[in-house]
Amino acid sequence: VSRQTMLIDSFGRSITYIRVSVTQHCNLRCLYCMDEDSDPEQSEELLTFAEIERILRVGCRLGLSKVRITGGEPLLRPGLATLITTIASIPALSAISITTNGVLLEQHAQEIHDTGVNSINISLDSLQRERFEQITHRDLFIQVWQGIQAAIALPFSSIKINVVLTRGINDDEIINFFRLTQDYPLQVRFIEPMPLGPEGFWQRDKVVSAIEILERIRAEEELVEIDLPCKVRGPARIYQTPGAPGTIGLISPVSHDFCETCNRIRLLADGKLRGCLIAGGEVNLRPALRGDEDDKQLEDLFHQAVQLKPEQHHINDADYTPPNRSMPRIGG
Ligand code: SAM
Ligand code: SF4
Repeated sequence: VSRQTMLIDSFGRSITYIRVSVTQHCNLRCLYCMDEDSDPEQSEELLTFAEIERILRVGCRLGLSKVRITGGEPLLRPGLATLITTIASIPALSAISITTNGVLLEQHAQEIHDTGVNSINISLDSLQRERFEQITHRDLFIQVWQGIQAAIALPFSSIKINVVLTRGINDDEIINFFRLTQDYPLQVRFIEPMPLGPEGFWQRDKVVSAIEILERIRAEEELVEIDLPCKVRGPARIYQTPGAPGTIGLISPVSHDFCETCNRIRLLADGKLRGCLIAGGEVNLRPALRGDEDDKQLEDLFHQAVQLKPEQHHINDADYTPPNRSMPRIGG
């Protein structure tokens, strides 16, 4: 890839990682993400598999090398394994991963694994069935747990459990989640809730800082930081009890800025390309895809979207206003 065509934003960051949302629909209603009746309409606006593939081929010519499939709930998209198999044939892509809520994972884990997905993130905010239902508004904890077990039984190179940790809701489960890392080869990632979901849910004092999480675990057990290069660990800091099969990852988008090393861009299910989850604008690829435009036009749109990447988000500013799209619309 020549230097000129690489995706480099206005702040010198090289963009190599794309998150692809394949649906806006979801079978859960996590209270920080979606209202009961907020499942969006989607029809002709949804990108086809052929369109997603074309966009990724163009993006890879511009230096993209990693893709994560997300949503909404990606396993709700019919034929997802077919899409991933096609994507996996793009030579420049060195890694494909998926983020799922796990509800449908037990049925799909094997085929997802067989498509070439090496790393899987499963979102789970409570290990208690009733509380899971309170948080997600669906009584599906058992299904998710079985999905996690199905994933563990397969040779994925990495399995992460994403826990959005909210004070007063599930922060009393920090230790129980930590214990999973002593029993299973998983990474448990505690993620700060972000001001993106239904209005009125997010409050700054519901964020539990990384320092507090560490203190609470260290009151029970030894935990040492594992020094991995940023390229490998992404925006998380990684900790482990010596000898344990699993690790803890801490991601602090709110209380600790990680924007400086951000290498991401997002493709939304409706064909918009967005530079940042939290801030900045987006460009619409659909007209170029559905007209007779050649790939050059798509390349230009990629560069435009990357130029719209802000230097950093401003969640911590007093006058912060959240984006006008919810998380399942943006693609988490
Ligand atoms: N449905 C899939 C899932 O839940 O894994 C994929 C999409 S979901 C939007 C991706 C991730 O975003 C999940 O781990 C979810 O917990 C997280 N998320 C959603 N809303 C959030 C918020 N307001 N703050 C922080 N994380 C959020
Ligand atoms: Fe669905 Fe994921 Fe949002 Fe929960 S976080 S409502 S599982 S899209």
